[in-house]
Amino acid sequence: MPLKLIKQAIDYLRKKSKCQFCGSRFTENSFLLVASTVITPDADGAGLFLVICPNCFAQASMMVETASVLGKLQQKSMQQSITANDVLDMHNFLKSWNGDVRELFKEI
Ligand SMILES: [Zn+2]
Repeated sequence: MPLKLIKQAIDYLRKKSKCQFCGSRFTENSFLLVASTVITPDADGAGLFLVICPNCFAQASMMVETASVLGKLQQKSMQQSITANDVLDMHNFLKSWNGDVRELFKEI
């Protein structure tokens, strides 16, 4: 995912979401890109972000799907908080993953 598109995705998520536990708005530094698909002019892409609330440190995952390379973004989903064990489970899953990122997003 190009840097420009990552920044657009984060701006979009900051506008459209807030912490579900304390209601705080997220900052640019609240987001960590975990995985993304390769984006070509003919294909939509997606990015999976880990989000940490700057106020209460609650964690959540968010997936953003791009409608085009120019960056019309759509929030796909926001899930409940995740634990350190969830992150470790994802780490172990990704370590053993043999497919490409596009296949990965189909699995998630
Ligand atoms: Zn919070």
